[in-house]
Amino acid sequence: MANIKNVVAREILDSRGNPTIEVDIVLNNGSIGRAAVPSGASTGIYEALEKRDNDMQRYAGKGVLQAVALINENLAQKLRGVAVTDQKYFDDLLLSWDDSVNKAKIGANTILALSLAAAKAAAAANKLPLYRYLWQGTNFILPVPMINIINGGAHANNNLAIQEFLILPVGAPSFAESLRYGAAVFHELKNILQRHNLSISVGDEGGFTPNLPKTEAALDYIMLAIDAAGYVPGKDIYLGLDVASSELYHDGYYHLENQHFSSAEMLDYLGTLISKYPLLSIEDGMAEQDWLGWRNLSNALGDKVQLVGDDLFVTQELLLRRGIAEGVANAILIKANQVGSLSETLATIALAQQAKYNVIISHRSGETEDTTIADLAIATVASQIKAGSLCRTERVAKYNQLLRIAEELGSVAQYAGTMDFFNRFTQFKR
Ligand code: PGA
Ligand code: ZN
Repeated sequence: MANIKNVVAREILDSRGNPTIEVDIVLNNGSIGRAAVPSGASTGIYEALEKRDNDMQRYAGKGVLQAVALINENLAQKLRGVAVTDQKYFDDLLLSWDDSVNKAKIGANTILALSLAAAKAAAAANKLPLYRYLWQGTNFILPVPMINIINGGAHANNNLAIQEFLILPVGAPSFAESLRYGAAVFHELKNILQRHNLSISVGDEGGFTPNLPKTEAALDYIMLAIDAAGYVPGKDIYLGLDVASSELYHDGYYHLENQHFSSAEMLDYLGTLISKYPLLSIEDGMAEQDWLGWRNLSNALGDKVQLVGDDLFVTQELLLRRGIAEGVANAILIKANQVGSLSETLATIALAQQAKYNVIISHRSGETEDTTIADLAIATVASQIKAGSLCRTERVAKYNQLLRIAEELGSVAQYAGTMDFFNRFTQFKR
């Protein structure tokens, strides 16, 4: 029987040098599941909350010793003997210990560490890779990587307002080739930035952080890098942005590049960008509070470009339901720690897929060596994964796990770039 024998939590460090929770769940048959939780910097206001110590003497208040103690001294005992084979049952038990609206009581980080460790222990008990344990279907898709090669906004100290400049090697013939295309562009971009005496230091997600006055300048350098690598922008490789515009939105205006845009002006700004560049995807083009702006954006550009809700939906079913009802966005970013448990994450993904929203499984800007999101992308037949740049091991680890899975699946798995997820957008590009 796959029942819990022991649960051990510990405080470890994430990729920014901040503490986070790691949990080991040991079953009475000897199987072990280990999971660590990531952490965001540009967090949405409706995200489930992380439990942090707020003891300013340690890690600037970001310690997680209270959450660790809660698990080791209290929850571990309650979990002893509990089965892990029914994830929904297991997660419902965790959720029954937190009756707050935003998981403030035991913490979304506490819940997610336990939830993922349980799933991994169950997979191990079943002698299955995590993606196979979570997905009983027969169709396997390798996601298009959204590779973040220039960082700005809250993830860097340069002056780019937009948070993420992404490349999507949609035209690559396979997942492995998509990484090779991406790496070629990444290296060419480094050469080009160096030639222009711009910084080749990287930000939180491993993208370069050049000081550039405007969004267009960053996109122009990326276009040059794609060309230098021998690829055709808008055919082999498309562009994407995560505007993370909730971070730019104050007093009803979007503040960027020394201007302040009304919602309608922001829409014009984004419309101009998509007319000038082969942009396939724009995430959080409008702020989480600006639902009217989001509706207008979706009406104006929703059939030309993938519009991704991150801060807008925060992986929560209720907010996504509203989005679907109002025709807002056509894709959702999925970050398990925005909601808490694996079961809630899977429910949101199922709802998105029913409504024909593209699903993007995502890392956070603060990451660990945990590669669960790679398996989750396969298990949910997601069209895309956003796991950062092609440097820094906590980013590359997710892509490397997908390479292993691709090898395991062989010809059974199809690369999402060769499928119809993007057709309705790519026909508008050159
Ligand atoms: P975060 O950024 O992890 O800092 O929230 C990622 C994103 O906005 O997509
Ligand atoms: Zn985002």
